[in-house]
Amino acid sequence: MYLLGIYFENARKNGDGRFCFKKDRQKIRKWTQLSAGMSNQELLQLMAVACAGVDFLREFPYALGRLCRNPAVPLQLEFILSTHHLIDSLSDAPPLLGSGIRIDGKGQVKRLTAKDCHLLPPALPIRKPALGTGNSRCFLLAYGAELKHHDQTDDFNFTDPFFRVTRFHSLFNKEALVTDPVAFLTRLHYKGVLKSRFPAKWTMERLSKSFRKYISIETVCWMERNCDFRKEWSQLRSWQRRAALPILDVVRHMIDAFPGSGTPLNMPGLVLLNRPDRFCTKKGFSDWIKLMDLLLPAMQFVVTLSDNAILGFPNNVQKRRLTIPVVATKPKEKCRTRIPRGAILLLDVDSRLPNLALMKLSRYFKEQGRRVILARKDSFIKGIETVYASCVFNSPASQRRISKLRDYYGESIILGGSGVDIRERLPSEIEKLPADYTLYPELKDRAIGFITRGCPFNCPFCIVPVKEGKTHQVSNLDSLLEDGRRKLILLDDNILSHPNAGNFLEEIAQRNLQVNFTQTLDLRMLDKEKARILRRIYCSNLKFTRRVYHFSLNDTQNLDLVRRKYQILCFTPGDNVEFICMYGYNTSLAEDVERFRFLHSLPGAYVFVQEYQPIPGGPPADLTHFFDDDADEYIDELIGIVFKQNMKSMEKYYRWLSKRYVQAFGKLHNGLVDTIFRYNKRDSKGRYIATMAGTRRKRKPDP
Ligand code: SF4
Repeated sequence: MYLLGIYFENARKNGDGRFCFKKDRQKIRKWTQLSAGMSNQELLQLMAVACAGVDFLREFPYALGRLCRNPAVPLQLEFILSTHHLIDSLSDAPPLLGSGIRIDGKGQVKRLTAKDCHLLPPALPIRKPALGTGNSRCFLLAYGAELKHHDQTDDFNFTDPFFRVTRFHSLFNKEALVTDPVAFLTRLHYKGVLKSRFPAKWTMERLSKSFRKYISIETVCWMERNCDFRKEWSQLRSWQRRAALPILDVVRHMIDAFPGSGTPLNMPGLVLLNRPDRFCTKKGFSDWIKLMDLLLPAMQFVVTLSDNAILGFPNNVQKRRLTIPVVATKPKEKCRTRIPRGAILLLDVDSRLPNLALMKLSRYFKEQGRRVILARKDSFIKGIETVYASCVFNSPASQRRISKLRDYYGESIILGGSGVDIRERLPSEIEKLPADYTLYPELKDRAIGFITRGCPFNCPFCIVPVKEGKTHQVSNLDSLLEDGRRKLILLDDNILSHPNAGNFLEEIAQRNLQVNFTQTLDLRMLDKEKARILRRIYCSNLKFTRRVYHFSLNDTQNLDLVRRKYQILCFTPGDNVEFICMYGYNTSLAEDVERFRFLHSLPGAYVFVQEYQPIPGGPPADLTHFFDDDADEYIDELIGIVFKQNMKSMEKYYRWLSKRYVQAFGKLHNGLVDTIFRYNKRDSKGRYIATMAGTRRKRKPDP
């Protein structure tokens, strides 16, 4: 984000006015210098407040009413931002936007709507900058002339949902604390030097090189494995500490804000500095500016400086320009597809895999000479006379889509699939047809289908016994593998329970096919002979990019049997054996942990968790005894169970568990929350805590 202009009315020092950054053909100055003084200090404050975000300002511990010249009249702030696509916003909205806020004499903040904004150029689109957690989007930092830092009190874990305001607090209050330099350098060194993580290593190298060159800090040992940063910091001269402190704070916040970037210091944003000439010696000021300029190539700076510092400002830095983001001109997509007369629309409402029923319907209609069009989710296409929609899941999202489709297509739509009626089948003359693979070109060289359907068991949560009955053969490899395909996605519910399972497996092995057993294999049905054949088969993931075996484990019954069967497959830690684990049906936390502990003890095994979704008319979840008195101990154990892969899936269970824990005990389990945010979306932690706790900590205003 870059700030292109700010307009104000009733500012205490500046009264009514505007400040527009000089622009020259889609470029703005990287460095804008203002003379030192109270009114320009206030101008920086107005800029910080404008870009801070209304939701965050409400928690800013500063009496914002002090910014009003006349306390009986609100301060009006309107501003123009240029946002960066995929950094400040994910949408295709134009990067240039106007926005505004109003602050009354009591410090109450209100966002302005388009009709409230009267200072901005009339053609400018007015909208609220989308700040999300406030940590990554519309990156803003601001600093006062004197900085104090945390000393072992800094929180690097984003537990504060209003962390954003700490990034510009020092511009308003000289007691506000910035980053703990020792703690930050120690963390950066750990990640960059000891763990060799690229962004941290890259940042550490740039930092140590520029500190050595521009502020004469000896940083050779920073890149060595053993470095005591408390000692290093204490040995710096006081001017070096003063000069390094704001730089370390900027670097810390950029790493925090852009965790997905390998080169976080190259990201854009806005830094406001009140009297940075006081951060270093008169002689060293020019070098300090050069350092900041090199370290942060895409950053917009606005600085207030003494007259001498303005004169000493490095010439080449003064000439730097930044490119203002422009609208990405996408070729206009044709929004109207011409529908041939009499065409059939096949609607895939929610399938995660290519929908076999639609592929057969497609074959059926094409053989009748009809044109067939495939659309997904809830597509509304004018001019269609007949629609066949298939819905696989009974989830609320799928049911919402169905209801919208019914409303739109009325009598013209024929709905089917397990999400609509588990007993309904395709007419037999369509069912026996081969699938039309052209409907889903993304299948490429993969075949899909059933050799058997059904299962001899009767698990109450499962659709298969009702829908398919006992295991029976419905097809064979020859009919599934038309066009010489050698990769097969098998949809069989429980192929190992069929009396001829050994023969099916043997044929797959002899033909040297690659198979994805997408509905998992039933370990209980395995014997030594089938296990031997199975190990000869290239069992694969869905994309056929690596060897993976799929099983499931939905409860803790028969764990001894599962272990014995598992052992006959002779897996080693190098194998990939995925267990689908359903949760949220009727197991307790103790049983869930027992399952994960058990699977962790099996060589090569890891989990893929799935939350229970009741089938139509199926039993509701029963979690009345989910927690017991040892819940905390179980959770402590759970977060210590780390599988060698797929921990992203476990995160889903952690989040579900965390929510249930809050509902049951009225508090968060901190260890669980730390685990959820240890590696991913760290900056969302504070907001998560605030949302789950349902509280917002009110900050004390500055005295
Ligand atoms: S869950 Fe598996 S074993 Fe149980 S009925 Fe369904 S297919 Fe059969």
